[in-house]
Amino acid sequence: MRILGIESSCDETAVAIVENGQTILSNVVVSQIDIFAAYGGVIPEIAARSHLEAILPAVHQAFQKAGLVTDSGQDDWSKIDAIAVTHTPGLLGSLLVGTLTARTLCLLNHKPLYAVHHLKSHIYANWLQASLLPVFPLIALIISGGHTQIVKMSAHQNFEIIGTTRDDAVGECFDKIAKILGLPYPGGPSIAKAAKTGNSSTYSFPHPMPGTLDFSFSGLKTAVLREVQKATGKPISFPSSQLAALLTDQQRADFAASFEQTAVDILIEKIKLALKQNPETQSLIIAGGVSANQRLRHDLQIFIEQQNSKLHNKINLFFPEPRFSGDNGAMVASAAYYEILSNITPSDPYTLNIMPRSEIK
Ligand code: AMP
Ligand code: MG
Repeated sequence: MRILGIESSCDETAVAIVENGQTILSNVVVSQIDIFAAYGGVIPEIAARSHLEAILPAVHQAFQKAGLVTDSGQDDWSKIDAIAVTHTPGLLGSLLVGTLTARTLCLLNHKPLYAVHHLKSHIYANWLQASLLPVFPLIALIISGGHTQIVKMSAHQNFEIIGTTRDDAVGECFDKIAKILGLPYPGGPSIAKAAKTGNSSTYSFPHPMPGTLDFSFSGLKTAVLREVQKATGKPISFPSSQLAALLTDQQRADFAASFEQTAVDILIEKIKLALKQNPETQSLIIAGGVSANQRLRHDLQIFIEQQNSKLHNKINLFFPEPRFSGDNGAMVASAAYYEILSNITPSDPYTLNIMPRSEIK
């Protein structure tokens, strides 16, 4: 079964064609990062307009890259069984472009429409190109620019949120701290890069909400800001946008390394508690943009190896391939494939609505 997946919830216009939920035939991602690097963050109106320009060429490219074209070079819709699209959560204008495109393409080409929750798609990125598939019951750590959650799944389509952030998402924290340190947008990759030459034990930062599965990242951001003010000898009233220019390269690297290690340690502490509370867990899945972080991948791998040497019940750790960590259409198609296998009713292309906010379902 071939599904065309469309994703446009934030600042990537993405279209992919995936076979049986796992095999990538094409994966087109048009990123708006270059546009938003100049502003230091996403501007929703510009994001929506950029999606509008990119989406139909991206659909066409997805067909071409998959080799699914007719003799006259047209997109060969006869080779597609369904269309899947992100309809929630995300930026209102951005979601509208993707859903309206999917609705129209379904009506024109007589295909069933599957509306997929964005966080569910991030989880299913772990099914793409996988030689070993996750097994239930599983725990998924969703770490992205807008979300930080621990979700328990006892089967496909069965989600229980067991931990969530009380304020900022971890990716948002990376982005905001990068700004304080004068590192370019998006903050995650630039903090990871700067951290390579830094010493992670130079500064110590708090681990909020110990003993619970909930997260809080806004205090961590403030703690870094206070240390930067201290290191530069400036009072709290000094404009934070001018602090970065006063840091040496070494200080910047040390702040990046100390923060990155703290964020990784917090995530691992929560996972450790989640596994302790759910000893029947078979697989641990990491999902969302922050799952690209190499320090996290490295430290989690070591943690799971240690756990497995002690536990009777061995846990398999899953990270998406780095190209599927960020937003993409392939993960949407994979999530929809398992919806189809679960006999979920398709959406009505005449009425499908978007929801800027909603819980995973
Ligand atoms: P998403 O919301 O899933 O599209 O993911 C975007 C978020 O992931 C942004 O907040 C990025 O800063 C963050 N991110 C991307 N790469 C990395 C990385 N290597 N380390 C930490 N965070 C990252
Ligand atoms: Mg995302």
